[in-house]
Amino acid sequence: MDLFEWQAKELFAKYGVPTTKQVVVTSVDDVRAAAEELGGGPVMVKAQVKAGGRGKAGGVKYAPTADDAVEKAGPIMGMDIKGHTVRTILISEAADIAEEYYFSFLLDRANRSYLAMCSAEGGMEIEELAVERPEALARIPVDPVAGVDAIKAMEIATAGNIPEAVRDSAASVIEQLWEVFTGEEATLVEVNPLVRTPDDQILALDGKVTLDENADFRHEEVHNGYRDTSATDPLEVKAKALNLNYVKLDGEVGIIGNGAGLVMSTLDVVAYAGEAEGGVRPANFLDIGGGASAEVMANGLDVILSDPSVKSVFVNVFGGITACDAVANGIVQAFALLESKGEAVTKPLVVRLDGNNAEEGRRILTEAGHPLVEQVDTMDGAAQRAAQLANGAA
Ligand code: GDP
Ligand code: MN
Repeated sequence: MDLFEWQAKELFAKYGVPTTKQVVVTSVDDVRAAAEELGGGPVMVKAQVKAGGRGKAGGVKYAPTADDAVEKAGPIMGMDIKGHTVRTILISEAADIAEEYYFSFLLDRANRSYLAMCSAEGGMEIEELAVERPEALARIPVDPVAGVDAIKAMEIATAGNIPEAVRDSAASVIEQLWEVFTGEEATLVEVNPLVRTPDDQILALDGKVTLDENADFRHEEVHNGYRDTSATDPLEVKAKALNLNYVKLDGEVGIIGNGAGLVMSTLDVVAYAGEAEGGVRPANFLDIGGGASAEVMANGLDVILSDPSVKSVFVNVFGGITACDAVANGIVQAFALLESKGEAVTKPLVVRLDGNNAEEGRRILTEAGHPLVEQVDTMDGAAQRAAQLANGAA
């Protein structure tokens, strides 16, 4: 999970990393009060989007007064930066900058290790620096077990050519950033710029943090607090809450399958069959996995059927350890479950059962005789039928 700058800086502060005071606003109406709370200026007005290069895009402005902050915030709110709409603005104290450095800790997957990157030449041109003069950006492997102590931090600061006058303080900030990295189970902690002020203080003026979602359960408060669902599809949010592997797509045929590989190929087959129907396409990816209990099936159908663009549903199941009869019972019970919740199924379902106990599964569905359920024996045939139904065929 990528964090917004304001969240990253909040975590920095929690670990004692020196940074600037800040107030987050979601309306330009609140900018004046925010700037006044920070002493009336000068302040920085900063677009909060999960994308780099905000400065170059015009999303970071210096405002000497609260009045000026209001004026600068106007055009930033709602601005589009690399496809992200600005809905939140960070007002922070503006620091005086003597020099801008670059610092990051990241997970180095290829080397099964961590990596520190450090440069005395940070700021908005860091990408160019990395390409044109890679030697100016030090890369220091960090042993995950040994971690970063004062000596290691000093080694990193020295390799990055941080001037001697502030090397000690930079090294101690690097140690604190390591505490952020490990304490919060991040896979990235980046500070650009890490600045030297005219009075030789070191301050983190920007922060980019990626938290490891595999560690959600150990950090529920932080992760739940920082999760941003505003940019996520509401159906995906609902599916996530139900523990479903669901991805919203923009077609008309809802897809349910067991096994990620089968679902992926189902998407292809439906897209192909849909070509003959004037470009009917799959509406989602949904893998209900091995278990496929009635409850999981009901949850899956529930999410898919609440998508208004879905016109038909294709349930594609290859019976394995969970045999087709269990899946068929799951479908029958799912219909009853949804009906009891007042969400009766109203869209046609095409079911293809194959593999372990397919015949018994088909018998169960036939016997249940739901008028909206059709069975087709082959995957291609079922995809074609689902595409026709999505296109309004009777
Ligand atoms: P980015 O462009 O998305 O990386 O946004 P940054 O937060 O890094 O801001 C871009 C640039 O704005 C920095 O490189 C600084 O030069 C400048 N900047 C950011 N914060 C401050 C501040 O507190 N004071 C001053 N004077 N400049 C700042
Ligand atoms: Mn930056």
